Amino acid sequence: MTIQDFGVTYDDLEPHYDQFEYLCGTSGAAGNLKGQILEGGNPFEGPRSRPYPNPPQAQPFSHTLFAKAARELGYKPFPQPSGNMSQAYVNPLGVRLGPCTYCGFCEWFGCGNYSKASPQTTILPVLVRKSNFSYRTECEVTRINVDGSGKRATGVTFVDTSGEEWEQPADLVILAAFTVFNVQLLLMSGIGKPYDPVANQGVIGRNFTHQTISDAIGFFDKEKFNFNPFIASGSIGMIIDEFNGDNFDHGPLGFVGGGYMGQVQTGGRPIQTTHVPPGTPRWGAKWKSAVRDNYLSTVTPGTGVHGSFYSYRDVYLDLDPLYRDRFGRPLMRMTIDFHDNELKQNAYLTDKFAEIIKAMGANQVVKQTRTGHYDVTDYQTTHLCGGAIMGTDPTTSALNRYLQMWDVPNLFVMGASAFPQNAGYNPTGTVGALAYWSAEAIRTQYLKNPGPLVHA
Ligand SMILES: Cc1cc2nc3c(=O)[nH]c(=O)nc-3n(C[C@H](O)[C@H](O)[C@H](O)COP(=O)(O)OP(=O)(O)OC[C@H]3O[C@@H](n4cnc5c(N)ncnc54)[C@H](O)[C@@H]3O)c2cc1C
Ligand code: SF4
Repeated sequence: MTIQDFGVTYDDLEPHYDQFEYLCGTSGAAGNLKGQILEGGNPFEGPRSRPYPNPPQAQPFSHTLFAKAARELGYKPFPQPSGNMSQAYVNPLGVRLGPCTYCGFCEWFGCGNYSKASPQTTILPVLVRKSNFSYRTECEVTRINVDGSGKRATGVTFVDTSGEEWEQPADLVILAAFTVFNVQLLLMSGIGKPYDPVANQGVIGRNFTHQTISDAIGFFDKEKFNFNPFIASGSIGMIIDEFNGDNFDHGPLGFVGGGYMGQVQTGGRPIQTTHVPPGTPRWGAKWKSAVRDNYLSTVTPGTGVHGSFYSYRDVYLDLDPLYRDRFGRPLMRMTIDFHDNELKQNAYLTDKFAEIIKAMGANQVVKQTRTGHYDVTDYQTTHLCGGAIMGTDPTTSALNRYLQMWDVPNLFVMGASAFPQNAGYNPTGTVGALAYWSAEAIRTQYLKNPGPLVHA
């Protein structure tokens, strides 16, 4: 394993988690307010300075049943914080969001109701009205340009929809193109030393990670249970955190890490969210009849167990030697597989999760434990992390603690590419908190005195 520290602490980031949650209008219940543990929230969370800006969303039947079963087993279930508005909300920038209607077409879709936090609904309406802000849509940056010394970014090259290439000069470049594209652009621009897994040297592409997820599907008696699975929003759920990180004793278990688990109902989309008992044909009249019989009485978690994926020397990103994009540039290549630690962790957590589904009263519980090799055709969340990580040592990290490139101080790289490993939580809260943390350092330190903010 090549796990290492971020170079920032929770206390550094807490004010910025708070800023991000208030920007987004996150709905949730505080579990630790200034050190006081509160009933109904996550007792394992770090101390927060304020409650969430909005109360938790209302929970559908299967979630309350999950919470009851979990409580009876001795756990402390809490509502999963969500970027779906539990009530009308005006964020600190003055942008209004409407209350969520639990329409069931949330995950994978835009919200016609302005009830889901996204750049379009929280910050862009303010930015586009600023006289010093301009933007180009449908343009693709193909390269970050550097001067002859290689130590200073001079701007970016981009291509517009007509295929014409432009150069945008800049004093300061912020790269925020999502995990893999951040790394791809750094590699294609020749910025930073590419990672070499054999020599265990270099930083760009190093410590790439994903997430280890699994499900357990519960089939219930249709005469007694009606879950109405189409009532849903993108992140609505009741979850527990007893098996995350260091929240439990790993002594005899043979793995490190963990994750959260819960009953999360993200939508009632056709096909993908209709589960049928094992042995049912995959198509035809018998499949249709099984869908009809089970649709309303099946607990179909969005993905019940979300677990950590730690970093390893042999899991990394580099430029593909064969495959090219439409501009003829190499695609990003992922070299990745599960290691024993992640498989053991997932087997343990999936068993614990299945126990709760059983305790809800399911007749049959089908575990979908993660086994075998990593497979991109098998849904694994969108939570790709690492590849241009932050840290305290330029020989093992691409960025310093302010997300500033060690090698090119006027280039800041934002996103989960900065995570040295993937803990057992979803990334976006930390992506947002780190962006605010970095932006504050740019405003209060870098702009006054452009140059490295940390000296190695
Ligand atoms: C269906 C779905 C569900 C998710 N659910 C959750 C969840 O429940 N919890 C959670 O924490 N996270 C979730 N995520 C992940 C979350 O969306 C990401 O972590 C987050 O959006 C990352 O933010 P970012 O700013 O780094 O990248 P992005 O939001 O991907 O923004 C990158 C932007 O850069 C642009 N871009 C990329 N390359 C170029 C280029 N060359 N030139 C110009 N522009 C470029 C892209 O068009 C994009 O607008 C989910 C993602 C999906 C798709
Ligand atoms: S469920 Fe999602 S898409 Fe539907 S109204 Fe709520 S936030 Fe919008």
